[in-house]
Amino acid sequence: MAEAALDDFRRETRRWLEANCPPEMRTPPKSADDVAWGGRRFEPSSQAQADWLRIMGERGWTVPDWPTEYGGGGLAPAEAKVLKQEMAALGCRTPLYSFGISMLGPALLKYGTEAQKKEHLPKIARGEIRWCQGYSEPNAYSDLASLATRAEDKGDHFLVNGQKVWTSYADKADMIFCLVRTDTSSKQGGISFLLFDMESPGVSTKPILLISGNSPFCETFFDDVKVPKENVVGEINKGWNVAKYLLGHEREMISGMGLRASEQSLPERALAHLGAEADGRLDDPMLRARIAAFEVRAAAFQAMSERFIDMLKAGKADPAQPSMMKYYGTELNKDRHELMMAAGGADALEWDSGRSHGGAAARSWLRTKANSIEGGTSEIQLNIIAKRILNLPGA
Ligand SMILES: Cc1cc2nc3c(=O)[nH]c(=O)nc-3n(C[C@H](O)[C@H](O)[C@H](O)COP(=O)(O)OP(=O)(O)OC[C@H]3O[C@@H](n4cnc5c(N)ncnc54)[C@H](O)[C@@H]3O)c2cc1C
Repeated sequence: MAEAALDDFRRETRRWLEANCPPEMRTPPKSADDVAWGGRRFEPSSQAQADWLRIMGERGWTVPDWPTEYGGGGLAPAEAKVLKQEMAALGCRTPLYSFGISMLGPALLKYGTEAQKKEHLPKIARGEIRWCQGYSEPNAYSDLASLATRAEDKGDHFLVNGQKVWTSYADKADMIFCLVRTDTSSKQGGISFLLFDMESPGVSTKPILLISGNSPFCETFFDDVKVPKENVVGEINKGWNVAKYLLGHEREMISGMGLRASEQSLPERALAHLGAEADGRLDDPMLRARIAAFEVRAAAFQAMSERFIDMLKAGKADPAQPSMMKYYGTELNKDRHELMMAAGGADALEWDSGRSHGGAAARSWLRTKANSIEGGTSEIQLNIIAKRILNLPGA
């Protein structure tokens, strides 16, 4: 795209955001409950949050680079990048967090039938339907392809029986994208990718409590759940390809946590809690050095992420590259929160009172421990990097 046209787009976008983004949506979310996930049962935390989701959804800017016929903004990759930059410059919140946007959508765009795209993508873009991911199983562990949830062929439908575990927000989701076994004679070659409603008879969920004190994920049970055949994405028994493609997008999304801006930057937080020397520098030389080293790593990761996303949009990224990004981004996010705790003084450890906003810092720090587990553990990412990128012998 020509430089001048992109400059025009930047100016127009800035003007539009200034006119349309409500002032309350130009601040980071106050807590995990202050984030818009959409869905049939969505209760916005404010009118501004509801307005922002609607306005952005109508413009297709919840999914700026999806085609307009599926509810997207139809932007070229360079324009989508400009939109992201301008939103960041104004401090505009992400209008919608959604597994539909970050995971199912890309998989449907590549593998879905026209009818599946038309049915699901616009609803994802407008935040009308909330999705959850039914991959993990209690007896499959990291060896995802050994999953056992059965889908029996009953002519025009499947009958699904089995159990999933660690299903994030299963109790709040409207629909699930789910891996099921349709053939027991082949491991990877006997898996299908199914979509179904969480309100279908036979689906039940049981929340699991996390170390952070929150309970965002569940055990999910399927007992004779009837799923129409047209809900298979891709071919029957070839769902593993869809699953792997989606996992690449999940890992890319999780790696972005390494870049996540928080309400206060690390130096701001440390200065506020620990004070400054006469020359204005943080009054703790050891922590100062650790923060400086962290900021350098974060800047390098930011540059690498931008390059990776550009390559991905141009179709030139290695399929194993999301494993690299996920591994490094999640370690970086854990390090950021370790430093945030060190920089926050005694207040950061506080768990309950209004002074610490209900222990927001400590709960976020504990949540980051899961970053290197969810979406495939760090050890599994290192195995993939060793095998597919470094071609190490024996890997
Ligand atoms: C916060 C959170 C949200 C999640 N959300 C979802 C969700 O929405 N949907 C969903 O389907 N799943 C979800 N998961 C599950 C997640 O994908 C799994 O926990 C993860 O893939 C690891 O599997 P596991 O827990 O069975 O660990 P295990 O496989 O039991 O692993 C235990 C340990 O052994 C190591 N290990 C295992 N195999 C190997 C190997 N071959 N080489 C080296 N080391 C190995 C692992 O790295 C790990 O350290 C979520 C998990 C978390 C923590």
